[in-house]
Amino acid sequence: MSLNSKQNVRCPNCGQMSEVTVWDSVTVSDSADLKQDLLRGEVNMFFCPSCSYKALMPTPILYHDEDKKLMISFSPCADAVTEQRLFDKVRETSKKSGELGKLEGYNLRFVTDYNELLEKILIFDYALNDKTIEVIKLMILSQDVDKSVDRVCRFGKSENGVMEFVIYDVKENQTYTSSVPIETYYTVDESLKQSGVKPYSFDWEMVNASYATKLLQGFNN
Ligand SMILES: [Zn+2]
Repeated sequence: MSLNSKQNVRCPNCGQMSEVTVWDSVTVSDSADLKQDLLRGEVNMFFCPSCSYKALMPTPILYHDEDKKLMISFSPCADAVTEQRLFDKVRETSKKSGELGKLEGYNLRFVTDYNELLEKILIFDYALNDKTIEVIKLMILSQDVDKSVDRVCRFGKSENGVMEFVIYDVKENQTYTSSVPIETYYTVDESLKQSGVKPYSFDWEMVNASYATKLLQGFNN
């Protein structure tokens, strides 16, 4: 069930008070429209009616797609230490409450970045798996190793046999796109499966660049 509450928020820019609808959980089966709002980046986004200041509310969201057996726990945070602490807490709470046992066959993801949340929803909407996509993203970034530290690569879409990735270079303030044939996805996906990587979770997972690096080093979940 999708759940929300109303919060009175003081604009950090101009001080004006306004009411914001804050969502704690988004369940696709009962709120298709809400999912579309989320994909447009509008859910939990504070917008000041007086000065147009825009900012993400610091509220966690639990995204649940029952049909796709996908659950994403989003906890906004920007530093690695807090991220690890929040991740450990999600794992522990899920285990203790017995929730984990009921989620067999699910993909369970923990993310701290809003764009990463939207990216993962898109990947699974295209019936792809983010573990394979993260490995392909590493392959794309490794084409220009020197610049890869300044670059963020995100999955964009998959159409007519071609996947499109968007690469943002922070240093150059430039956006590039990279096209990869869908056959590459199936090849990488098959080799990951053969090396023992499961297309579902045994516990909450952080599937990102460092996860993909570990996969390439021979580690599997
Ligand atoms: Zn304002």
